[in-house]
Amino acid sequence: MAADTLNAGNNRIVTYLRLSVTDRCNLRCRYCMPPEGVSFVPHEEILSFEEMARVVRLSSLHGIRKVRITGGEPLVRKGLTPFLKTLSSLEGLDEITLTTNGVLLEDYARDLKNAGIRRINISLDSLKPQRFLKITGRDYFDKVIAGIRAAQEEGLSPIKINVVVMRGINDDELLDFAALATEKPIHVRFIEFMPIGGKNGWRPEEFVSIDEMLEIIRQAWPLTPIESGKLDGPALKFRLGKGDGEIGLIGALSNHFCAKCNRLRLTAEGQLRGCLFSDQEIDLKGPLRSGAGDDLLLELMRRAVETKPENHNLLRRGPRKCARLMSSIGG
Ligand code: SAM
Ligand code: SF4
Repeated sequence: MAADTLNAGNNRIVTYLRLSVTDRCNLRCRYCMPPEGVSFVPHEEILSFEEMARVVRLSSLHGIRKVRITGGEPLVRKGLTPFLKTLSSLEGLDEITLTTNGVLLEDYARDLKNAGIRRINISLDSLKPQRFLKITGRDYFDKVIAGIRAAQEEGLSPIKINVVVMRGINDDELLDFAALATEKPIHVRFIEFMPIGGKNGWRPEEFVSIDEMLEIIRQAWPLTPIESGKLDGPALKFRLGKGDGEIGLIGALSNHFCAKCNRLRLTAEGQLRGCLFSDQEIDLKGPLRSGAGDDLLLELMRRAVETKPENHNLLRRGPRKCARLMSSIGG
C-alpha cells in the first residue's frame, strides 16, 4: 500500500473527491427529488465546514488533487465562500470546482472567483422557460441565465453546462444545447439519465444513451475527439465544427467506466461512498466527532476506495435504484 495515496491495494488510484456540502436545494428537478419534496437532514447531522476541511486536507495529503463542491445546491449553504477560501489555501490541491443549479449564481459569482474557484458546472436541462419550470418545479429560468452571464463576466472559464437528457422531455433540445458550444467558449455536458434514488421516476423509455445522442449531434456538425487530461472526468469529449467550446457525453449507464473511476464521494452527512450506484457507505462523521486521529480517518478512506467496484452492470441487471437521493450524494 503506497503511503502517500489512498490506494487500498486494489490498484484504484483515487485523485478526485466530490464533496456534498448540503442536501438542501432550491429546485425540485424531476430526476433528482420527488415532487412532494424530501425531509432534509437536521443541521447538526450535517458535517460542519471544519469537519469537511479536515477530511479534504487529509485527503489532499494522500493523493486527492481535485475537489468538486456539490449538493443539494451548494450555494444555499451559509458560509460557503469562507470554506472555499480555506480549501484554496491547501497546497496539495490542483483544482477546486463547483456544480450549481445557477439560481443564486448571479449573487455569488464574484465571491466564488475571489474564493479561488476558476471553473464551474451549471446544470440546465432546457432553454425554454416553461419547460424549465416543468422539469425543476420552479420558475427560475431567468435567474439561471443571469447566473451564467455573471459567471462569464467574472471570467470563470470554461463554463460547463450539464444537461440530463430525457426522451420525450428535453431530447428535442440536444442540437440547441450543442449549438451553445459553437458560439461561446462554453462546454456542454450531456448526461445519461440515471436511476438514482428510489423515487426519481427513472423509466427505461426516458433513457437516451450517449451513442444515440452522438448520432444526432454528428449529423449536424463534424466532431473532433478531444483527449482527456489527467484530472478530467469520464466524459467523451469532442470539438464541434470550428467553435471554441466542446461537448462532452457522460454515459454513466451505457459506457460504464467503473474500472477507470478515480472518485470518492463524501455526503453532507459524512458518509464516504466509493461508487455512485452502490449503497455501500463508510461513516466518517462518527469517528470525526469522537476524536479519531488522522490514521483512523485515512484507514476509513482507504476502505472506501476498496469498495469501488469493477463494474456496475446496471443496464444488464436492470435499474436497481440506490436508496439515497442524488441530491444527498451530490451527483
Ligand atoms: N444542485 C446542483 C446542480 O443541480 O447542479 C448540484 C447537485 S446535482 C445532484 C449534481 C448533478 O447531478 C447535476 O448536474 C444534476 O443534473 C445531476 N443529476 C441529478 N440527478 C440525476 C439523474 N437522475 N441522472 C443524471 N444526472 C443527475
Ligand atoms: Fe437540486 Fe441539483 Fe437535484 Fe436539481 S439536480 S433538485 S438542482 S440537487
